[in-house]
Amino acid sequence: MFGLGSQELLVILVIVLVLFGANRLPQLARSLGSSLKEFKKGIDEGQAKEASVRPPSAEREAPPPGERTCRQCKNALAPDWAHCPRCGTAVTQEIGPGT
Ligand SMILES: [Zn+2]
Repeated sequence: MFGLGSQELLVILVIVLVLFGANRLPQLARSLGSSLKEFKKGIDEGQAKEASVRPPSAEREAPPPGERTCRQCKNALAPDWAHCPRCGTAVTQEIGPGT
């Protein structure tokens, strides 16, 4: 599982036996198994959360800032136009408080 050979696993098992005692081993294995299960569950929940947090990019689409329209005919105007090409009304840049 972790790239360990059977010899290393045996050594680890012996160390665990010495540390915890043979009679506590089933209990240890049970708690280890349940904690591993919780660990996996946590990873799954984290991934699910991450996926749901990201909103679809289409919802974020907003109209471009600084878009102007003619006051007379509501024609869309380019930012550098001084007159409306449809009705000829002079359009002034109305950004910020007027003088
Ligand atoms: Zn116009």
